[in-house]
Amino acid sequence: KGVVHRICAGQVILDLSSAVKELVENSLDAGATSIEIALKDYGEESFQVIDNGCGISPNNFKVLALKHHTSKLSDFPDLQSLTTFGFRGEALSSLCALGDLTVETRTKNEAVATHLTFDHSGVLVDERKTARQVGTTVTVKKLFSRLPVRSKEFHRNIRKEFGKLITLLNAYALISKGVRLLCSNTTGRNVKSVVLKTQGSGSLKDNIITVFGMNTFTCLEPLQVNILDGCTVDGFLSKPGYGSGRNLGDRQFFFVNGRPVDMPKVGKLVNELYRGANSRQYPIAIMNFSVPPRACDVNVTPDKRKIFFSDEGSILRLLREAFEKIYSPNQA
Ligand code: ADP
Ligand code: MG
Repeated sequence: KGVVHRICAGQVILDLSSAVKELVENSLDAGATSIEIALKDYGEESFQVIDNGCGISPNNFKVLALKHHTSKLSDFPDLQSLTTFGFRGEALSSLCALGDLTVETRTKNEAVATHLTFDHSGVLVDERKTARQVGTTVTVKKLFSRLPVRSKEFHRNIRKEFGKLITLLNAYALISKGVRLLCSNTTGRNVKSVVLKTQGSGSLKDNIITVFGMNTFTCLEPLQVNILDGCTVDGFLSKPGYGSGRNLGDRQFFFVNGRPVDMPKVGKLVNELYRGANSRQYPIAIMNFSVPPRACDVNVTPDKRKIFFSDEGSILRLLREAFEKIYSPNQA
């Protein structure tokens, strides 16, 4: 009741970064400690997510990309836990509908891997043995090619889409502990460049230093707040006077239990309080909400990006108090 419970149709895959997000989330759900994202032509030709997770067992091959197939409902019968965001079985089926999907996978129980090809309705049309370590590779070619308008849009905005993807991968790089991330792009001339590479071994602090550098880290103030029912917020905010003049989403990151989400109201609140003292700047904000199962009442939108707390008013009030302690200590 009340928790992560909106199973509704509608578009799950809005753009390149939401497509990659679904695949990376699947890799994390599969327990991967190494995730590689390989793009061709900034994702327009293809993108691939390669992990060393648990793999997919053969009895799931046929149903894998069918709408509403998920292996996760049975693992989380009451959906009370936000430890996994993958629970609707719509990502792979949506990706099939929007591009050409193949999967290579192997569990520890198989001696060899299997290469699977799906058609646009998610039906498994080809299955053959191949060599691979335990884990899964999902490849999507020609995303949106079957939607001419979207496809043109994708082509026209490819740099912007790519930038948005890098921001998303930075979010994973910041929050992931013990997960190595590698992102590369190969251009039409077969020139491969590494876009992002992390060791994923550290704390949030170490990860911030990896992603943004030591100079940036020294401008940050740690944040720790208890918000209702055992939920906590941990993170870092710019010290007063150390913000940046840009209001780009690429310096504000919100997470729930280590998964990136959008929190426009929290972002607005922290900007407002910061700007009270620094009229033209915006703070860096990195906040992870820890929400133990059955504690806070949480819901997510269909694209799994926006989070709603049922007791939002009280949570925003507690956050405001915490932000004021940093940004206007005399009033707090
Ligand atoms: P959901 O994540 O909501 O269950 P998806 O369409 O994203 O649905 O994936 C369907 C199913 O495919 C998952 O439930 C899981 O069993 C399997 N799967 C997808 N990607 C992976 C992966 N990288 N590793 C292991 N299993 C995966
Ligand atoms: Mg999923």
